[in-house]
Amino acid sequence: YTNEVTAVKELVNQVFNDFKMIHPDFTFTLDDDVKRETYVQIYRNHLEQVLIILLDNAVKYSVNRKEIHMSFALGSRNVEIAVQDFGEGISRDNMDRVFNRFYRVDKARSRNKGGNGLGLSIAQRLVESYHGQISIESAVGHGSVFRITLPILNDKERHKLEQQAIKEHAKKSPKPSI
Ligand code: ATP
Repeated sequence: YTNEVTAVKELVNQVFNDFKMIHPDFTFTLDDDVKRETYVQIYRNHLEQVLIILLDNAVKYSVNRKEIHMSFALGSRNVEIAVQDFGEGISRDNMDRVFNRFYRVDKARSRNKGGNGLGLSIAQRLVESYHGQISIESAVGHGSVFRITLPILNDKERHKLEQQAIKEHAKKSPKPSI
């Protein structure tokens, strides 16, 4: 666990723009109505990793319709980030299994797409270790939506964590005594 505070709105927008640039053959849309920055207690790299796994999959499993829709929304105590594709989709039977380590839906077909079946199990472990949730909505032939929710920090909680981080940093790097 960490007392790192991550600005989620900014991170979502950054990863979204990176993917848009890397995959010019795709149409990317982002639905973000959140007015001000929102903070979550999570390592920035961990959240970035989760978003990359979901977006990489959305790209990998969309062969015909190259469209990806992302959304960022605020609940009373959570943020919700969703990644939607209009690709091959996942059957109900497979929806529970895709989070298992090394599980891949179509072994022969997905072999030439690369990957080990680890991405989603890592994403789930990360999200849950920060008291969040990850879920799927999908229909074969129509596409999938992967949704993650994470608890947000209120101003007081954020302030406290930031103070702690400053103190720890000071302990690690004492002022030189000239
Ligand atoms: P990697 O280890 O590189 O992430 P992977 O994509 O096979 O490889 P996971 O991300 O864990 O591994 O996904 C597991 C399986 O779930 C995939 O092999 C694929 O069959 C299915 N899957 C994941 N995301 C999607 C998606 N957006 N649409 C359709 N199927 C998906």
